[in-house]
Amino acid sequence: NRQYFLTEFPKGMPTEETFRLVETTTPELEEGQVLVRTVYLSVDPYMRGRMSGVKTYIDPFTLDRPLTGGVVGQVEASKDANFEVGEIVAGLLDWADYTVASGKHLKKVPAFLKPVSAALGVAGMPGCTAYFGLLDIGQPKEGETVVVSGAAGAVGTVVGQIAKIKGCRVVGIAGGPDKVAYLRDELGFDEVIDYKAGDLREALQAACPNGVDIYFDNVGGTISDEVMRLINFHARIILCGQIADYNLEKPEQGPRHFGQLLVKSAMAKGFIVSNYNDRMLEGITQIGQWLGEGKLKFRETITEGLENTPQAFLGLFRGENTGKMLVKVSDV
Ligand code: NDP
Repeated sequence: NRQYFLTEFPKGMPTEETFRLVETTTPELEEGQVLVRTVYLSVDPYMRGRMSGVKTYIDPFTLDRPLTGGVVGQVEASKDANFEVGEIVAGLLDWADYTVASGKHLKKVPAFLKPVSAALGVAGMPGCTAYFGLLDIGQPKEGETVVVSGAAGAVGTVVGQIAKIKGCRVVGIAGGPDKVAYLRDELGFDEVIDYKAGDLREALQAACPNGVDIYFDNVGGTISDEVMRLINFHARIILCGQIADYNLEKPEQGPRHFGQLLVKSAMAKGFIVSNYNDRMLEGITQIGQWLGEGKLKFRETITEGLENTPQAFLGLFRGENTGKMLVKVSDV
């Protein structure tokens, strides 16, 4: 069995040396345990926070244990009566070829979910992040302008499409012409801005002639500063992620237009998707329905091979993914 260990708590941008692939042997199963072969491994921006050695809302990774993340896998052996060999399951498992897990920590992936990788993206944690963040905190109303940053990613693509379903005008911010074309032409965003090209302030002003009612913030930093200048009275700002900050060695200067919250009687609220654990079924059921009706589309960027997991993870910070970033480790 190959497992990835963390070699250091990186300062600034992690490198390939931050990770070490280690050969280990798989222990015998005890009662209640299941041996899961990794099929897809999810790499997510939040994992950077777990590499800092500091506890936040979740424990940090430890240096002498495998890294963990969302996995969809297949049961290879089972000493839990609830799981049979061959079943497709999901859980928070090791960055490894195989994980021995307690059956209590595994969920069955429903047979109708195709491809099974969707359980890590649109029909999983990122999809639910978009669903609850936008609908519960944002409370979108028909005709409102919704701006989403990180728009071409796992969360952002779902945010924009749900906002369209709710009758909003959707403006996406993403990096590069391919992402812009995808969001506009395939996902039906009203306007998409390439923040890496041209003047962001001008482009935002042109794309939001009626101001911004909801800002779903996946990135923070200067992009969010520019959006804040345009918020409307009673705007809602959903603080979902701050990826622009995750690899900074020194914290940036704070938000530049925080006072806008005051003069616009606006609200900014952070959240963690696990706040909604008791409503997860609602989110997944609704997303499943929209997928079935063709109202939600999704893309995945898939890196082949466990040995390329660090590259896939680091690629998130270089914008190498459109939709969900995944590693394919083995076949179903
Ligand atoms: P994405 O699929 O969006 O991947 C990350 C994307 O971020 C990249 O593709 C890149 O797109 C963009 N990006 C990277 N670096 C920067 C930068 N410096 N400035 C601006 N954009 C950057 O990831 P997810 O959809 O999984 O996550 C999106 C955000 O939501 C993250 O911040 C994540 O931490 C957060 N999150 C929060 C959750 C919660 O519970 N609150 C749950 C899940 C995610 P581009 O090419 O456009 O730059």
